[in-house]
Amino acid sequence: MEDFEWHDPLLITDVSFLRQQGLHHTNSQTHAECILPTLCSSVGSLMENSAESGPTVDGRSVIGFSLASPDLVICMGSHDVPSPRYELSPEFFKSGDRIDVSLENGIKGSEMKESLENPAGNEEEICTDSSFELVASPFVEQNSIKHCTHVMSINVGSTDRIVFEGAIQFSEDCCFNGGDIMRTNDPITGDGEGLSLYHTARFGNCSYHFEILESGTYMVDLYFAEIVFTDGPPGMRVFDVFLQDQKVVSCLDIYARVGSNNPLVISDLKTCINGDEGLLIRFEGVIGSPIVCGISIRKFASAEAGEVELLERMGLAYMPQCESPQDIGYGSMDGEFHRLQMEHESQEKELVETKRVLEEVKRENELKSRECQEALKSLNDLRNELMRKSMHVGSLAFAIEGQVKEKSKWFSSLRDLTRKLKLLKMDHIALLEEATSFKQCLADIDDVSSIIQSKINEHTQLCDDVKIKFVEGVKERKELYNKVLELKGNIRVFCRCRPLNPEEIAAEATMAIDFSSEKDGELIVKSNGISKKIFKFDAVFSPQADQADVFKDTAPFATSVLDGYNICIFAYGQTGTGKTFTMEGSHDNRGVNYRTLEELFHIVEDRKKTFRYEISVSVLEVYNEQIRDLLISESQPGVTSKRLEIKQVVEGGRHVPGIVEARVTNVNEVWEVLRTGSNGRAVGSTNANEHSSRSHCMHCVMVKGENIINGECTRSKLWLVDLAGSERIAKTEVQGERLKETQNINRSLSALGDVISALATKSPHIPFRNSKLTHLLQDSLGGDSKTLMFVQISPNENDLTETLCSLNFASRVRGIELGPAKKQMDSTELFKYKQMVRVACLIRKNTSKLEFVPSYDANLFS
Ligand code: ADP
Ligand code: MG
Repeated sequence: MEDFEWHDPLLITDVSFLRQQGLHHTNSQTHAECILPTLCSSVGSLMENSAESGPTVDGRSVIGFSLASPDLVICMGSHDVPSPRYELSPEFFKSGDRIDVSLENGIKGSEMKESLENPAGNEEEICTDSSFELVASPFVEQNSIKHCTHVMSINVGSTDRIVFEGAIQFSEDCCFNGGDIMRTNDPITGDGEGLSLYHTARFGNCSYHFEILESGTYMVDLYFAEIVFTDGPPGMRVFDVFLQDQKVVSCLDIYARVGSNNPLVISDLKTCINGDEGLLIRFEGVIGSPIVCGISIRKFASAEAGEVELLERMGLAYMPQCESPQDIGYGSMDGEFHRLQMEHESQEKELVETKRVLEEVKRENELKSRECQEALKSLNDLRNELMRKSMHVGSLAFAIEGQVKEKSKWFSSLRDLTRKLKLLKMDHIALLEEATSFKQCLADIDDVSSIIQSKINEHTQLCDDVKIKFVEGVKERKELYNKVLELKGNIRVFCRCRPLNPEEIAAEATMAIDFSSEKDGELIVKSNGISKKIFKFDAVFSPQADQADVFKDTAPFATSVLDGYNICIFAYGQTGTGKTFTMEGSHDNRGVNYRTLEELFHIVEDRKKTFRYEISVSVLEVYNEQIRDLLISESQPGVTSKRLEIKQVVEGGRHVPGIVEARVTNVNEVWEVLRTGSNGRAVGSTNANEHSSRSHCMHCVMVKGENIINGECTRSKLWLVDLAGSERIAKTEVQGERLKETQNINRSLSALGDVISALATKSPHIPFRNSKLTHLLQDSLGGDSKTLMFVQISPNENDLTETLCSLNFASRVRGIELGPAKKQMDSTELFKYKQMVRVACLIRKNTSKLEFVPSYDANLFS
């Protein structure tokens, strides 16, 4: 079915089985004169048609049903389908005899009418409708003997020509109404003289009215030929014929039946004339115009006439009424009478015999008529059956129509799906192509990534090597740096002298210190203009040295804190010698505290790619052996803060629980914190200056470092301590509370000295806990930690005693570190070493990048 192209609205049904049944009859079709109005014959003709030109599916015959109309329409014989052909039913052929069947005539057995015979031997066809379907059958008297008398025949279209067709004479045209005359000189097929009847015709809708005909039953023969549309095609001329306004021929298409220039005779069209109405024959076109060549009318004879004819055929003369013997003369009368009598008797006997034969013939005739009636009855039954079947088929067609509609819906959805499938297939192909290209891309990417991976591996390897080298380098640097600081001394002492203040200058105070050998870290104490003692420190800063000069030598400690070492920087000295100035400084002239933290952040910034640092600051005060947090903001004047204690933590360090550790990330925050601490120190007392001199102000900077490269972590502390004034108690001559303060200060300062001393002598016991100050500083004194002491002195000769005390204390601290052996070196030997180190330093200065190296020996050995 897939190959078959559907043209709605025809539904195709397989009728091959019917065709097979009727196939062997088709060779008899040329003898067809009429048809049986059975479905079988219709189907048979349809099969014939379909076999020639109709649809076949897979070699099978099919029949079409129109889906436009629910009624059954056999497409053959429709106006829409030209060239319908009718053939005989299989029953007809089975009979072997030719039977003329029509509703008008009944069944006539094998008797043939001459007029029906086709002289050319061509088949003649009669439209089914004319003979049995549409025309109501006129009553045909049973038992009547068919006998017709020729009444009249006309050569239609001829005005002057009388022609003979067989024995019938056709006179010129008459009694017509409408139509035009057509003539042809073409030979009619099998043309002989007799066929000149077909050379003229009447063309167009027309009628013939024979008024002269008396009432009775008539038989009409009509003669047709297609002489106009000689090239066809079929369907150009289709028309109906009416007798007495009754359609007797329907949809006659001459060309379709016999082609052009071929005679077609429709005979024995029976009609009745009542009264003096005459006979009316009408030709009416369905498609195109009707055409007719001849009309022949015969009258149906009476029964008596038929009987006479029958007798004649039996060879018997019609016996007239006998004359009476009385009419004959006497003489030979007796003999003659006797002979006649004898003859009469024998004739009577013959008559009796004849009557008997006649009776038999009548009986036979009755029998035949009954048979005819039965045949007619069965014919009617068949017709009813056909109607019933037609209706059934109609309903089937209706149902099929629904199915076909459904099917067409399915077909359309199938088409849609097919279209979608095609689109999807195209998409699929496109995606496949894309996928292939992506695959290729992936392969390329894999290649590139493997190359990159190998490069990365190379670089990682390289980086690891570099890292290792770097870490080693850092470690080495740290160690070297530490070594340098150690060489410089883990406890270093810088001496700073303040300038004479305006009052002292006004009082013309004398300078007791000579800074002529300041560069060598030496200062000379004079008394009354005479040099009394030379002091030597790691650095000596004269009154002219500014904060920056001082810090220059302090900066390396900041690096050391970030390297993980604990540092302690404190300022020691008599009140008013500039401890606070050195450590805190002023806003415009910032001291060691701020500058160290500033330096820390500079180094943090420099190292940010390799180290991560967290810096926090605590500010506290030790006064009378009590620790006070200077960053507690709620501290109010006169209100003492809660007491803080020192605790040892797990890692071994010291910690003051509850102390504020302010996190700082930049120098601005540092300044804020320092100022807060400074203010806190000030508010703690009614007399800020006095108080500050008698307490230790301590800044603790806590640094957490992480080496990003190797994950190494460090924790270190930087203590920045502004110690209380170191002036001697005897001089101050104080009492009560002030005495207690002074004692506490002296104790803590001497504890500091003791601790340093114990560290220097590597004593097994270091007395850190003797004061809060040393206890707090425990982590940053001794071991790896570095200590820087600023010894602050006054230049005023009036302060000389205190100055000497401070310088002696500082010398003790420094002397301990350097060790007595070194001290004991003689000056020539020392000079020799100095020279050697200087040379070595010059060489290293040119080769090493460590810029601090030259300074260390200069200070160390100066
Ligand atoms: P301390 O803290 O030791 O008691 P201060 O730091 O308060 O001493 O200093 C006392 C005074 O001396 C302050 O007015 C300070 O400005 C001044 N002073 C101290 N050292 C210097 C210095 N190097 N240059 C200038 N002025 C100084
Ligand atoms: Mg001070």
